[in-house]
Parts: sequence; C-alpha cells; structure tokens
Amino acid sequence: MKRLFLVTLIVLMIIVGISKGILIGLSMDNLRLERWQKDRDIFVSVAKKLGAKVLVQSANGDDSLQLSQVENMIARGVDVLVVLPHNGKVMGSIVKEAHENGIPVIAYDRLLMDCDVDYYVTFDPIKVGEYQAKYLIEKKPEGNYFLLGGSPTDNNAYLFRKGQMKVLQPYIDSGKIKIVGDQWAKDWLPQEALKIIENALTATKNKIDAIVASNDSTAGGAIEALKEQGLAGKVLVSGQDADLAACQRIVEGLQTMTVYKPIDSIATQAALMAISVANNIKVITNGKVNNNYKDVPTFFLEPIPVDKNNMVETVIKDGFHSIEEVYKNIPKSKWPKIK
Ligand code: BGC
Repeated sequence: MKRLFLVTLIVLMIIVGISKGILIGLSMDNLRLERWQKDRDIFVSVAKKLGAKVLVQSANGDDSLQLSQVENMIARGVDVLVVLPHNGKVMGSIVKEAHENGIPVIAYDRLLMDCDVDYYVTFDPIKVGEYQAKYLIEKKPEGNYFLLGGSPTDNNAYLFRKGQMKVLQPYIDSGKIKIVGDQWAKDWLPQEALKIIENALTATKNKIDAIVASNDSTAGGAIEALKEQGLAGKVLVSGQDADLAACQRIVEGLQTMTVYKPIDSIATQAALMAISVANNIKVITNGKVNNNYKDVPTFFLEPIPVDKNNMVETVIKDGFHSIEEVYKNIPKSKWPKIK
C-alpha cells in the first residue's frame, strides 16, 4: 500500500513537472447542455492541478465561429488542441493547419472526420445505443417504436443509432416491433424533439409504445409532447447523459432510463492525454474508430445504463447529483435509503 502510494506520488510529480508551461486549447461546440459545463470544469481543474494552462472557448453551435476560435488558438501558439466539434466534418479541416504548426489534436467525445486527428477519447457510443435499445426491448418486446436520432452533424448520433439497430433489427425482421417513424433532431434540441414527436403522435393516432431517444435533452422534448396527450409515463423513452432533469423524470416515472457517462473519467483522461501528447509521450489507447481517413487511436470509456433501480448506487453514490436534487419532486417518505 505504502509502495503504491509512493509510485502514484512519483508519477504525479513527473506529470506535474512536464505539465508546467503547457498551454492547452479546449474548443467546445456549446455549453448549453449541463454535461458540457461539467466537462469543461473538470477538464480545466485537472489540467490546472497538473500545472498546465487551458484556453477554453465555446462556439455556441456555430461552425464558422468554432473554426475561427481554433485558428486563433493556433495563432496564440497552444501546445495541443482538444476539440469537441459541433460539426465533425467541418472541424476536421482544422487538423491540417494545426499539424503544419506542430500542434497535435485530440477529438473529445465526438470524432473529427476525414482528417489525420491524433487521438480520440469517448464513451463507447455503440454501447450507449445498445443499452438504450436493449432496455426498451426488455420492457416491450413487441409494439410500435419511434426512432429519435440526435444531430445530423454529430458523428456520435449515427454511432448511437448503429448500436440501437444492432439490438432492434432482429425484432424488426421478425415483425415483433414496427418502426413507425425515424427522425433526427437538429443540434439535439428539445424543441426539435418536441415538434417531431407531436407530429408522430398525430400521424400514428397516438399509437407509439416506445421512443428510442438518443439523449436526455431530446427525451425531455419527447416527454413534453407525450404530456400534451396524457401519455407521459405510459410510453417508454430512453435517454443518455444522466442530466439532472432526466434523473428527476426517471424517479418520477416519466422517463424510462438514461445512460450515465461519468464525466470525471472522460475529462480527466482527456487532460492527461493532452499533457502527454504535448510532451511527445505515447498515449495508451484501447481501440480504434475509423473517421473515413484512418483508424483513429481511441480511448474508450464505459457508459452505464441507469434506471430507477440503480440510480442510488450509480449517479447518486458517485456524487454526480445528490439525492436531494434527484428526488426533489418526490415526498421524502418515499426516498430510497442510502447505505
Ligand atoms: C454526446 C452526448 C450529448 C449529445 C448532445 C453527443 O455527442 O455524446 O452525450 O447528449 O452530443 O450534446
């Protein structure tokens, strides 16, 4: 134990030593979602603790703004770029310019497409999609399913769908489930999801049993549309991110499940990767993802499916949200006991 502590301390001292003076450029699509604010805060705090500096910019979902922000970071001489792209194809074009200036690039959570990006760190997106569909299928192996995809400019949206279809296809082929609609919500916006599901309910005369929503913000929009028809809690709805509002909906019985992605792990991993890459230290990865240009060395993290039953031992136990926050709308006498 003492030895392990000593080794950890030495490793930390080395990292702090090599991090000194390193400037990391962190470029983010937007900070609208609760999760992206957590990603930023944890990334910056880990990097700072290790002695590096971080220049953060958010583009508010605007491609040309994100491009010019990254160009500016390159001009300011950052040592490494970490990019969460709004549009993976558009932002992929920045990698060439970064490399010409000797700056390595790491794709954060979403892949940069058609380019020579150095590394990618993400929660396994195919697994996320599988968890979403698997959960709904186990609850409802027959019926009408609506596929509510994410933003068409986000490569993740297609990977989540790929994972969902791995589970759903055999049920579609056997005629057990019927896909009654399939749409993608621009920029993952809840308002888009609301409109899509309102129209789908009208078109199907409210005959939808399950909505495969790809994240919590779109699930939120879908649930608003269900509420208008008195169907919230009756139609199954998946999600992702364990956003506070989604966790509250889950314990209230309005949303069926979410997929929890502990942001601590991805933000810490990315900060360590950035510092290593900036120092020309080889980064350990555990997989690859093709971006239409090459197989990008990738560090995959494990997502965790969460419902009412394991909310306490996952999201709450980790301190991701407190029990007071999650159970805010439930009478205290009905709160689960925390061991
Ligand atoms: C992320 C999700 C997030 C979504 C919307 C995806 O790329 O992986 O966690 O919900 O973007 O911002």
